[in-house]
Amino acid sequence: MATIAFIGLGNMGGPMAANLAKAGHEVRAFDLSQAVLDTAVEQGCKAAQSAQEAVKGADFVVSMLPAGKHVESLYVSGDSPLFDIIGQDALVIDSSTIDADTARRVAEEGAKRGIAFVDAPVSGGVGGAQAGTLTFIVGGSEEQFAKAQPVLDVMGKNIFHAGEHGAGQIAKVCNNMLLSILMAGTCEALNMGVKNGLDPAVLSEIMKQSSGGNWALNVYNPYPGVMENAPASKGYQGGFQVDLMFKDLGLAMDVSQQSASSVPMGSAARALFSLHKAKGNGNLDFSSLLKLYQDS
Ligand code: NAD
Repeated sequence: MATIAFIGLGNMGGPMAANLAKAGHEVRAFDLSQAVLDTAVEQGCKAAQSAQEAVKGADFVVSMLPAGKHVESLYVSGDSPLFDIIGQDALVIDSSTIDADTARRVAEEGAKRGIAFVDAPVSGGVGGAQAGTLTFIVGGSEEQFAKAQPVLDVMGKNIFHAGEHGAGQIAKVCNNMLLSILMAGTCEALNMGVKNGLDPAVLSEIMKQSSGGNWALNVYNPYPGVMENAPASKGYQGGFQVDLMFKDLGLAMDVSQQSASSVPMGSAARALFSLHKAKGNGNLDFSSLLKLYQDS
């Protein structure tokens, strides 16, 4: 069993760390929020007083932070950066969704100090994090991927090696751009059906079994009351915040700009989420986009 430092215990990191502890690893957990740290301890993790304390002598360091600036600051540029403390035998696995340039830069800074770093963003949502069925999309060398795999296997079901450093993040933003389009389309269709007298549960079942079926309908229905465990049925609390989807769509727009890839559907989805965020919904789950249609 390994000693694993886990930094960032939010909606995703909390259950991921809990699964590592359940599997018998020693998980030294740290978050800036005491409330989520307390929950992690209830789930079998050991609380560290700081990220620096957590990583001392750890075999693996896993981070699950909001964005690139948090990751770069933690490892490289902040006060007491972790790359000054992490041992050379350790592997750093960053599962946050961040821009590929930052992931590559942090990997290079790690390499200069003899520390291995992989980008390993995830897909599968909070449900996948709790069930240990996440998809991991890894960017790094073959050797680093092989070393990460046993740890990722505990938290996920499908583990992909996308390519070199940064490739995991590129694949992840392609996926999330598609997800935003699927969610917007699902909200649009459900809203139109309900406005024309259909029951949202009946319409959802019909579309699930028809050619419109997709992940949003199958596991994340945006209509309140249709799916008991979906954020829509819990006041759009928990889950994947609009702010984070907005960040990911910004990353997708940057990638499209840098590569001159045309993304008209992604741009439209970004405009919708931007409008929804501007109306004060940034901290709701992203399936709350339905409200934008209902209010218009
Ligand atoms: P979250 O906001 O719930 O959690 C982030 C946590 O990081 C917070 O608890 C915060 O206190 C902590 N944090 C921030 N800076 C820190 C620091 N310097 N040291 C220690 N802790 C720090 O976010 P989340 O939903 O768990 O998402 C985390 C990442 O995973 C994001 O990059 C997101 O885009 C990605 N993601 C989220 C989902 C989802 O469904 N929520 C799915 C896939 C990927």
